[in-house]
Amino acid sequence: MTRLFLIMGDQISRDLASLRSAKAGEDIIVMGELAQETGYVRHHKQKIILIFSAMRHFAQNLRDEGFQVHYQTYDQDNGAASFEALLANAIDELQSQDASVEICMTRASEYRVMQWQDHYQAHAGHQVVLFDDDRFLASKDDFSHWAAGKKQLRMEFFYREMRRKFNILLDDYKPVGGQWNYDADNRKPPKSGLEIPPRTRFTPDEITAEVITLVDSYFDDHFGTSAAFEMAVTREQALAVLDSFITERLDNFGTYQDAMMTDEPFMYHAHIGAYLNIGLLTPLEVIKRVERAYYEDDAPLNATEGFIRQILGWREYIRGIYWHFMPDYAAMNALDAHRALPSFFWDGKTKMNCLSQSINQTIDYAYAHHIQRLMIIGNFSLIAGLSPKEVNQWFLTVYADAFEWVEMPNVSGMVLFADDGIVASKPYAAGGNYIDKMSNYCKDCHYKVKEKTGETACPFNYLYWDFLYRHEDKLRGNPRLGMIYRTADKMTDEKKAAIASDSKKFLASLNCVGN
Ligand code: SF4
Repeated sequence: MTRLFLIMGDQISRDLASLRSAKAGEDIIVMGELAQETGYVRHHKQKIILIFSAMRHFAQNLRDEGFQVHYQTYDQDNGAASFEALLANAIDELQSQDASVEICMTRASEYRVMQWQDHYQAHAGHQVVLFDDDRFLASKDDFSHWAAGKKQLRMEFFYREMRRKFNILLDDYKPVGGQWNYDADNRKPPKSGLEIPPRTRFTPDEITAEVITLVDSYFDDHFGTSAAFEMAVTREQALAVLDSFITERLDNFGTYQDAMMTDEPFMYHAHIGAYLNIGLLTPLEVIKRVERAYYEDDAPLNATEGFIRQILGWREYIRGIYWHFMPDYAAMNALDAHRALPSFFWDGKTKMNCLSQSINQTIDYAYAHHIQRLMIIGNFSLIAGLSPKEVNQWFLTVYADAFEWVEMPNVSGMVLFADDGIVASKPYAAGGNYIDKMSNYCKDCHYKVKEKTGETACPFNYLYWDFLYRHEDKLRGNPRLGMIYRTADKMTDEKKAAIASDSKKFLASLNCVGN
C-alpha cells in the first residue's frame, strides 16, 4: 500500500500529527500551490509569498530527509486547482488508482476545508485517514467540555484553566506573583524617546525571489505590495524572530502593547502570529521560551504574563469559539450592520491619520498590531456600521496571519459585536480621546480630536455617540455601558441633533465600494 500525506499551506510543521507517522523512503508527501486557496479571498501579496515560499522550503527539507515529494507549483492554466485535483494527479502519477492507496491528512483549521475533508473521506473510494491537529493546546472537545453549561464564555476563566493544565507561570498551583493578570501594569501610552528595535528581517533567498516574481505576475491585482517582503520562511528564521523578540522587545511588550506611534508599525510586538498560524512555530514552544525568560530574570512578569495570555489564553479560546459556533457564527449580525467598505480600506487614502497609518502599513507589510486592528480599523468599522461579512473578508484578505478560525471570532466577536456578546462583554467602541491617549496620530491629523461636532471635528467623536444612540434599544441594558448612557442622557437636544447630522453627512461622504 502507498500512503500519500497531503500537507496544507498552514500545516508547515515537522511535528504535524499526520507527518509524525510518515516514513522517509516509503511514504509520499503531496503539497500544492492551489488556486482554490489563493482565490477564495484575494489575499495580500505578501501572505501568498509567505505561504508559497515556506511550503517550498519545507518541501525541500522533506526531500533532504529522504521523502519523495509530489509538489505542484502555482499554475493557473494547467495545474490542479483544488486539493482533490492535486491528490488525483498524485495518484495518477503513481498509476495506482486502486484500494492500495491510503491518503493521510491532518484536520484542516478552517470549516470550509474541513467540510471538504469529510466529504472526501466519505466518497474518495480509497482509505482516508484524518488526524486531529494537536498543535493546538485545547482540542475542540476540551473547549466544548469547558463551555458546557456556562452562561458566558469569558476568556479569562478559560485562560486560568489553561495555565493550570499546562502548569505555566504557577507556583504551588497558584499564579506566580499572586495575580492571574497584570494588565493594570500594561497598556501605557507611548512616550517620547522610546527606542523601538528594528524588526528581524530576512533578505529573500533564491526560492523566495522566485515566488515573489510568480506573485507579481499572477497576483498583481491583489491587495498590498510585495516590495517589502522580508518575513521568515523557514522554521530556523521564525525561531530567530522569536529569539530577538525575547531579547529585544519582551521587556517593553506589556507596558506598550496598546501604544501606537506614527511610522512605527511594529512597536514592541512579537510579529510571530503568521509563523504560529502556518506551523513554523508551535504555541507551546513559544510559551515555554517566554516563560523561561521570566524565570531567568530576562523579562518582567507583566510582559511575560501578558504575552502568554495572548497565546495560551486568547488564541486557544478564539479557536474554541470558532469551532463551537460554526457554521452559524459566520452569518451573525447582531447589530444589523450593512454598510459596504469605504474605498480607503483598499487604498489607504483618507484624511483620518489613525486610519491612514494603520491601513497603509497593512498595505506595506500585511501587518498591523492588535490595537490598530481593534481600536482603529475595527472601531471605525463598528461605529460606522460596516457589514460584518465585508469586514471579515477584508481582515481575512489583508493580514499575513489571517485564517478564518482566528480572524472571524476576533472580527465578528471582539471587533463588531456581531455575535451579540459571545466573545466580548460590550462593544469596543471609542471616540477620538482613546486614540489620542494611546497614540501620537492625532497631532498630525486633518481633523481636530478635541472638537466633538462640526466640519473639522474628529469623525470618531460624533460617530461614537451616533452608534450608541442608534443601538440604544439593544445596548442600554448592558451593565458595562450604564455610565456611558447616563452621560448620553445629559446631552442637550441641540448636541444630539448635531451628532446625528454630522454622522449622516460624514457617512454619506464615504465612497463605499465594498469588497
Ligand atoms: Fe484619528 Fe480623530 Fe485622531 Fe484624526 S483626530 S487621528 S481621525 S482619532
